[in-house]
Amino acid sequence: MMTRRELLRATAASTLALSTPVLSASSRAAAAEPAGFTLPPLPYAFDALEPHIDAKTMEIHHDRHHAAYVANLNKALEGQSEWLKMTPLEVISKLAEVPEKIRTAVRNNGGGHYNHTLFWTVMSKNGGEPAGELKKALEDSFGTVADFQAAFTDAAMKQFGSGWAWLIPGKEKPLQIVATANQDNPVMFGQPAPILGVDVWEHAYYLKYQNRRADYLAAWFKVVNWDQVAANYAAAKKAG
Ligand code: MN
Repeated sequence: MMTRRELLRATAASTLALSTPVLSASSRAAAAEPAGFTLPPLPYAFDALEPHIDAKTMEIHHDRHHAAYVANLNKALEGQSEWLKMTPLEVISKLAEVPEKIRTAVRNNGGGHYNHTLFWTVMSKNGGEPAGELKKALEDSFGTVADFQAAFTDAAMKQFGSGWAWLIPGKEKPLQIVATANQDNPVMFGQPAPILGVDVWEHAYYLKYQNRRADYLAAWFKVVNWDQVAANYAAAKKAG
């Protein structure tokens, strides 16, 4: 005669024995695996940056290009639960530790995900001008805000092919401009995380500006979210 406890245990065991073979190997792995990276919603409407950045470009750029980087990053890291638990910044800061056979895919798509996530937040229809500590840091580093804009535009113009220009905390001066190819980011080269970046891939401007990258850059400066850049700068200084 079974006690009540033994009966419950026997019932649980038989239920488990019945249900286990029904679960496929892949569904059990999925249940144990972190959900992975997700596409953050655009923090404004597609047409918010009109007429400087057109709605169609924003829609394709966010919903297709950025979405593809997220999907391909998750695909590359499938089954790599420790990497799927990290932030995008952590992933691209530790590329040397990523298994070699998926490292290029993680570099391109992890970079693509992180870079675009930053890019959406440093634009706003309200634009404005740099102020306060950020303005002082720009002046200490480049002369005037106009000098900074000229130097940043120059770096973005000289980036051959696809890539980005970035504003990062500097060593000798408070701020420094760097450019990277493809979806690379300064953190992949041991530099600080950017506080501002501009996408100079043709997909960022070709529909409206075709080959006129300089016109795109001049327009882009009208929608830079300086409040967010100032917040990024304050956070970078605080983090040391
Ligand atoms: Mn892009």
